[in-house]
Amino acid sequence: MQPIIDAKDLVHEYSRRDEEGNVTGITRALDGVSMQVKQGDLIAVLGANGSGKSTFAKHLNALLTPTEGTLYVGGMECGDHTKDLDIRKTVGMVFQNPDNQIIANVVEEDVGFGPENIGVPTEEIWERVADALKTVGMYEYRLNSPNKLSGGQKQRVAIAGILAMKPKCIILDESTAMLDPGGRKAVIDTITRINKEENITVILITHYMEEVTGADYVYVMDSGKVVMEGMPRDIFARSDELEEFRLAVPEAVRVAMLLREKGIELPKDILDAGELVDAVMKLQA
Ligand code: ADP
Ligand code: MG
Repeated sequence: MQPIIDAKDLVHEYSRRDEEGNVTGITRALDGVSMQVKQGDLIAVLGANGSGKSTFAKHLNALLTPTEGTLYVGGMECGDHTKDLDIRKTVGMVFQNPDNQIIANVVEEDVGFGPENIGVPTEEIWERVADALKTVGMYEYRLNSPNKLSGGQKQRVAIAGILAMKPKCIILDESTAMLDPGGRKAVIDTITRINKEENITVILITHYMEEVTGADYVYVMDSGKVVMEGMPRDIFARSDELEEFRLAVPEAVRVAMLLREKGIELPKDILDAGELVDAVMKLQA
């Protein structure tokens, strides 16, 4: 089957310019990234600040033009910009700041904005909005003002707005970075469920390692390159390398991993000490 995302030796260079517009330097933000993602996979892209994650995400949404290399999204080539609209219908993006993504004064109108923009007929918009809000657990807030919601709730509304456009793939670019732990967990749980139940491909971009435990496959980026890739448990086991790339395995995740290696059956998605304790208590019950 054709991969939903197929990047080959993707390079992106930003030009730095002075006030007169003369190029004064070049930043190679992506330096030969190759990545193939199957439809329905939950992929995590980990990397410290400045490693090139957002630049990669923007390419997936045809917001940038590759300097070198090729990128196909849903079989469409991103570089020539002839399919930009179709690419953006295929891949929806959720950004970091929940406040910047809200457009309307009522939750359901906000969620309806995307489908309206891509020309979905009105009756169908409301159906999609209701379904999407139910999926992210925000249906009961449909008539509320988005401004009164918590950060995590706003991000779930943003996810609903993407879902209502029925994309094949959702990218979350550090979409949990500004949330409290409860909000982060709600967003990760929601997106994991959407991935499993709706078979939507998810690209989870983050610098929080504990968020990648549920991923099918993990890519680690540093200085514009993919420097590690593998299953979460294999990546977590390489903690010395991760530290080199300014990433650290959370202690609870590491302990859970070691316990699993000893044959103790713990769920794979333990993220923190509280969940580890709960899981261990359940073993005794
Ligand atoms: P990340 O999302 O992992 O923090 P980015 O993709 O935002 O990384 O940035 C990668 C590199 O590209 C950094 O060195 C950053 O300073 C540079 N960069 C990002 N956006 C621009 C831009 N618009 N112009 C010039 N340089 C940029
Ligand atoms: Mg970024």
